[in-house]
Amino acid sequence: KVLAGLLTVVMAAGFVAVPGMQTEVKADDKKLVGVAMPTKDLQRWNQDGENMKKSLEDAGYEVDLQYASNEVATQVSQVENMISNGCDILVIASIDGSSLGEPLSQAKEAGIPVIAYDRLLMESDAVSYYATFDNYMVGQKQGGYIEEALNLKEEKGPFNIELVAGAPDDNNAKFFFSGAMDVLQPYIDEGVLVVKSGQTEFEKCATQAWDSAKAQDRMDTIIAGNYTDGTNLDAVLCSNDSTSLGVQNSLAASYTGEYPVITGQDCDMANVKNLVAGKQSMDIFKDTRMLADQVVKMVTSVLSGEEAEVNDTESYDNGTGVIPTYLCEPTVVTADNYKEILIDSGYYTEDQIK
Ligand code: BGC
Repeated sequence: KVLAGLLTVVMAAGFVAVPGMQTEVKADDKKLVGVAMPTKDLQRWNQDGENMKKSLEDAGYEVDLQYASNEVATQVSQVENMISNGCDILVIASIDGSSLGEPLSQAKEAGIPVIAYDRLLMESDAVSYYATFDNYMVGQKQGGYIEEALNLKEEKGPFNIELVAGAPDDNNAKFFFSGAMDVLQPYIDEGVLVVKSGQTEFEKCATQAWDSAKAQDRMDTIIAGNYTDGTNLDAVLCSNDSTSLGVQNSLAASYTGEYPVITGQDCDMANVKNLVAGKQSMDIFKDTRMLADQVVKMVTSVLSGEEAEVNDTESYDNGTGVIPTYLCEPTVVTADNYKEILIDSGYYTEDQIK
């Protein structure tokens, strides 16, 4: 790393510095990994950042971890700073997958490899690898849960369902939605499932920035228009936990019918508590320790000039070609198995879920 003009660091490294002079010092031989995360607002990204930092440091790297408060301009300048500070490799979980074109071409020019973390970086040929959970499978598991909970293979319904998808600028959101809709759409076509709001297209169901309040507002409108005359809402497909929380708040405020089946994703603590309290039916656990370990392996392979381990070379085209990907497997969590999966595995303590 280049630590230019940083007097304290220079002194710590045992060099005599002349104040004001541009001094280039290698503090040590450690490689520097720039890790850009989208926001601290959602619990999962805090978990991701902490696990990444710890695993990378344990593997002998120095880490520059930055969070961007969900502001694209902030993330752009954070990545640019990482590049000008001489990082050796970048790991980026983007806010808007298509907004980092400029810093990514700077990285390419400087010979700094880039790994897309969890969310694919779009429209850039600077991306070497992608590591994520199987996003399509997440959706399939959510849809499959609803199929089973309503016993759709046997029952003819009709059951009422509403659909809540994620952020339109997040490539994952479309994968979650299409995974779930591939399970649910045939039932909608047969009239076994009915979407009373009529909103079934991804664009209509999307939630800007995965924002809970926005999901809540949309659900308020849907309930007011369709479910205040005693009509039951049987299920709500929610692509993740933040949107699911918004829906749960809306139901608590303005819905009086039988409580629907509701999905989620991430196993954020608030949602796991609601799972136990019966306000959310299922959740998807994406063990961020697993993803971090995989990314650390990728970083090590790339920095040693070797090919990284991948298990998918066809699903994720970012507009410049397919990006070699490692997909981790997501797990369904319910009130019945959360202890075993989340607590016995050490991901949470029992107290955190109380
Ligand atoms: C992640 C989800 C997360 C969502 C909102 C997606 O890209 O894959 O795990 O719930 O972003 O932060």
